[in-house]
Amino acid sequence: MTLKFHNTLTNQVDEFVAQNNGKVTIYTCGPTVYDYPHIGNWASYIYWDVLIRILIANDYEVNRVINITDVGHLTSDADEGEDKLEKGAKREGKTAWEIAAFYTEDFMNGMKSLGMIMPQHIAKATDYIPQQLDMISKLKSKGFTYQISDGIYFDTSKFTRYADFAHLKLGSQMAGARVEFNPEKHNNSDFALWKFTPTGEKRDMEWATPTDLLDNQTDDAIMGFPGWHLECSAIIMALLGETIDIHTGGIDHIPVHHTNEIAQSEVANGVRLSNYWLHSNHLKINGSKISKSLGNGYRLDDLAQKGFSPLDYRMFILQGHYRNEGNFTFEGLQSAKNRLHNWRNIATLRHQTHDTIQSDNDRNTNDKTVSTYATSRAIIEAIDDDLGTPEALRIIDEAFSRINSASLANINQQALINLLETIDSTLGLQLMSSTPDITDDAKRLILERNHARTQKDWSRSDKLRDQLLSTGIIVRDTNSEVIWEYKD
Ligand code: AMP
Ligand code: ZN
Repeated sequence: MTLKFHNTLTNQVDEFVAQNNGKVTIYTCGPTVYDYPHIGNWASYIYWDVLIRILIANDYEVNRVINITDVGHLTSDADEGEDKLEKGAKREGKTAWEIAAFYTEDFMNGMKSLGMIMPQHIAKATDYIPQQLDMISKLKSKGFTYQISDGIYFDTSKFTRYADFAHLKLGSQMAGARVEFNPEKHNNSDFALWKFTPTGEKRDMEWATPTDLLDNQTDDAIMGFPGWHLECSAIIMALLGETIDIHTGGIDHIPVHHTNEIAQSEVANGVRLSNYWLHSNHLKINGSKISKSLGNGYRLDDLAQKGFSPLDYRMFILQGHYRNEGNFTFEGLQSAKNRLHNWRNIATLRHQTHDTIQSDNDRNTNDKTVSTYATSRAIIEAIDDDLGTPEALRIIDEAFSRINSASLANINQQALINLLETIDSTLGLQLMSSTPDITDDAKRLILERNHARTQKDWSRSDKLRDQLLSTGIIVRDTNSEVIWEYKD
């Protein structure tokens, strides 16, 4: 079994080799906490959660950081415009700190509702200001920074590999420069490490610029705040070290944000920032980009209002591959919801079958027991292969359809439990925890109904079935047996 990922650094699918045997350090660029995330934002976190799960399934000990951008992300990635947090604060009549706290909590709740494994560290940019200033100081001492009227910038022309990661054509970037190009910058691609609070303004989030970072000493402190890219480099360095195993983000991060992270970290530390870079593609909605003006930036709450749970959405996302552009439609979400419902009903069979039959290992070739022994392996192999979730789902459907058409007597309870455990641990769909056994009372009603049926007392049998239905349980009569399922 080989774990493989498409690595943006090499532009090919590479076998994964951790730098420290059995241990993985991994960093995910997290949310800017100025507003609610839309479902497109969540898509990538769902894929990265599967990444964590497949690393664990491969026996790696995972040390993972997600950062929270709570300062410095400007409305334009080119270091111009307003700080998104300060803008959110004005919109809601709160401080930037209150906005950050509110949307950070909302993000954490979203993570929980989507069944994500929590990272070892959630790191807020504002908690790492000294580390960010240290990094600027290192870059300054190596001659890679310069100061202009609105801040301290990284001189990308001095980092000769700057264009390599994203295969940038810097000349054409220059030609395409729009109004946001700051004429004081030495190169269009130069980016802010530290921005000064504009004279006469007071920001909610600002820190005194250490005087040794400034060209000229002043009596009054010059207040400022970090540029967006710097936090990731400083947090990685502080919590995971100079070189990490895996770095993840959205494809939009490649040309600017990750390119800049690489420039800062690799100049400051003199070693490679990350051995593997994974990037997820974007989600469209009904074929259109997600945008405020189209009003299509659905949130998890919007889906809930239409009757779809976060796990229905998780199933929808897993149906696509992380490197392909996704297209969200409510019909697609409905079919994901149906699929999850059917899978849950297969999961309930573990309460209705018994381990009286032989185990998978010593069954004879004539018996009709459904074998799922190989299925768990196949699911893991599909995900091992560059997070092949669509293939994993296909394998599960195939196994479940065999189980569905088997009689209860031919389903090995322990084998089914093992399969469900594999699905839950790798895909996080919570099939087991969402399908508890029914109560003893409900079981008694089912037995009474079976008895009424054998007595051909149809009216009593129908009454009992309705009674069960009112508690959310459907009884289904097959040729030879009665199976219960959840209504929804
Ligand atoms: P934003 O809040 O717009 O800066 O988005 C934060 C991050 O979410 C981006 O950097 C992307 O990586 C990701 N993202 C934004 N829009 C989408 C989308 N439509 N589909 C998937 N990911 C997205
Ligand atoms: Zn980042």
